[in-house]
Amino acid sequence: MQGVTGLHHITAIAGPAQENLDFYAGVLGLRLVKKSVNQDDPGTYHLFYADAEGHPGTDLTFFPWSHLAPARQGHGLAVEVGLTVPPGALAYWEARLGQYGAKTTGKETRFGHQVLLLTDPHGLELALVENAGALKRTFAPWDGSPVPVEKQIRGLEGARLWERDLSLTASFVTNVIGFRHIATEKGWHRYGVDGGGSGQFIDIREAPDARRGAWGVGSVHHIAWRVDDDKHQQAVRARVEEDGRRPTPVIDRFWFRSVYFLEPGGVLFELATDGPGFAVDEDPEHLGESLVLPPWLEPQRATIEAALPPLQHRVVEPVR
Ligand code: ZN
Repeated sequence: MQGVTGLHHITAIAGPAQENLDFYAGVLGLRLVKKSVNQDDPGTYHLFYADAEGHPGTDLTFFPWSHLAPARQGHGLAVEVGLTVPPGALAYWEARLGQYGAKTTGKETRFGHQVLLLTDPHGLELALVENAGALKRTFAPWDGSPVPVEKQIRGLEGARLWERDLSLTASFVTNVIGFRHIATEKGWHRYGVDGGGSGQFIDIREAPDARRGAWGVGSVHHIAWRVDDDKHQQAVRARVEEDGRRPTPVIDRFWFRSVYFLEPGGVLFELATDGPGFAVDEDPEHLGESLVLPPWLEPQRATIEAALPPLQHRVVEPVR
């Protein structure tokens, strides 16, 4: 069975767009590789942060929906996004986050890896994870980052989910989209593809007594998994459909093609193709600098731009 090959991107819900940009580009040092709008809600930005070239697996994206209530933590929701840093980089990150007033919430060891926990300005839980596997990943350093290349975030590490019934999601990911159980530690069950290395796993905690989680500011919206190309996507989509999920038709997002469905526990998953990539409609030197719209929204560009809050790429100063 050809399953998915790893994380493609994770999309979350943020508060005000400028604060989101200041944190992810100005403090975490990621590159804004695409500034677009939510294709279903063009009054809202869709901001994509990644490595310098926007490689699949490095991309964390946001819908700044400040009008929503805060997320309600609970089952059927991804509750944390892991980001990979090189071995030995956490001391740098702990000091940097302190200087910028970011909210760190603890340190721990998970499955043998050192982890620094933090919360973004709008409540999204993040984990910076030292993983030697980071050094083997496809990664283009970003020269414009305030973070030195050797400390830069290398991509998505993994995600953590709460589920009401572990067995339903476990059975789906293993039998339908190509995962296997890797290990269990402190109540977290790790499922991964290709050995479950950096960028290739989810951790699931069974939370039968929790209430149903709900999207809101600071929550993950969906998790997108990599497929090589259209043919691979069709093959995985067909298995998802046979399993009784209801995958959407293929939707062209221009930088990749997407299929969405709910896994049995209620977390929104996506299958996203590796190509064509973020340079398909912008000069790679100038990714993210101007607003990119899908062709059908181009005639409304003036109205859309006027309704969006202005967004400035600016240097963020330390607070102490
Ligand atoms: Zn997506």
